[in-house]
Amino acid sequence: MLRVVVPKESAAGEARVALVPESVKKLVEAGLEVVVESGAGAVAGFLDEHYESEGARVAADAKAAYEGAGMVLRVQPPQREEVERIPEGAALLGMLAPGADPEIFDLLAERKITAFSMELIPRITRAQKMDALSSQATVAGYRAALIAATKLGRFFPMLMTAAGTVAPAKVLIVGVGVAGLQAIATARRLGAMVQAFDIRPAVKEEVESLGASFVGLTLDEAEDEGGYAREVSEDVHRQEQELLAGLIAEADAVITAAQVPGKKAPVLVTEQMVAGMKAGSVVVDLAAETGGNCEVTKAGEDVLLGGVTVVGVTNAASGLPFHASQMYSRNITNLVQHLLSDGALQVDLDDEITSGCCVTEGGKVRYGA
Ligand code: NAD
Repeated sequence: MLRVVVPKESAAGEARVALVPESVKKLVEAGLEVVVESGAGAVAGFLDEHYESEGARVAADAKAAYEGAGMVLRVQPPQREEVERIPEGAALLGMLAPGADPEIFDLLAERKITAFSMELIPRITRAQKMDALSSQATVAGYRAALIAATKLGRFFPMLMTAAGTVAPAKVLIVGVGVAGLQAIATARRLGAMVQAFDIRPAVKEEVESLGASFVGLTLDEAEDEGGYAREVSEDVHRQEQELLAGLIAEADAVITAAQVPGKKAPVLVTEQMVAGMKAGSVVVDLAAETGGNCEVTKAGEDVLLGGVTVVGVTNAASGLPFHASQMYSRNITNLVQHLLSDGALQVDLDDEITSGCCVTEGGKVRYGA
């Protein structure tokens, strides 16, 4: 019987867990054995007894958990010593940060571990239920709006009170992918006046359907065949900067979430634009981990510049660990089910989903090969 193991995440500040109890039940029903390291879900709100009541066995520590593992489910990439704990020939599924540390992939291949990176699941309709990038971006966008609302010394909604009328906050979202859309929706629910900026034509309608106004550019050449943004020319970049300078000066809160797949995040908010904002305003930069959309951003820190707070958000999804874990767990369970045939792992590299996300197989690194 294939033994699926869920270790406690070891990365600093990581509060999520790869599998939640509702998914244990699904895997047990599919004929698998599930072992969870004690305390793996505790920070996210899932206790050992919740796992046990859905049919998992709880292992006292990491060493006991990894023993006899046929498949390991994680959120973050494993450290070197964690890879060494995975039995040779087992499978590993997680957000493995492809490209970040090639030595880890080499070690996985050396140990004949078949590894699957959730970030590389193709963005095709058939794979939407496995799309962890989207589920975690949804959480990140929601969190970004809440961070902006709590860091800002103003109300988001308009209020009419005995102490007079309070004007609503003006929130500008820059970069409207999955995270940006959720930031718009959340800021709107809190009553802010929301404007949104992007360069892909498809975004305008999505923004307007959420009750925000679209203030970006609609450039056909900005979108590739897959619907993603391309890196823009210097000329377009200049146009963007001119437009953004005026919009940012007017905003109380700016949330940035612009990315170009595989590239450093585009720098869209300059230090001069931040200096031009009203004192007390905030910039929440969701792209901090990929270099930041704002020139002032420092990953993991709040920077105060002329009365404006620039928040370099890192691992935003971990800040809402219950639902981030639940959504991730559903994504990864769908991938596990996709990879199974009669209760055993079957790696069909002719399948677009399997081939897209399989990074090591048969003792070789496939990623980037
Ligand atoms: P992302 O995180 O790659 O990018 C976020 C946003 O940044 C994008 O909207 C992009 O246009 C914008 N951006 C990039 N450069 C910019 C610049 N210079 N100025 C302003 N904005 C800039 O995006 P994502 O959330 O991964 O989604 C991007 C696309 O993928 C969307 O079209 C989405 O609908 C599509 N998608 C498809 C699926 C699927 O399964 N079919 C799933 C998720 C997303």
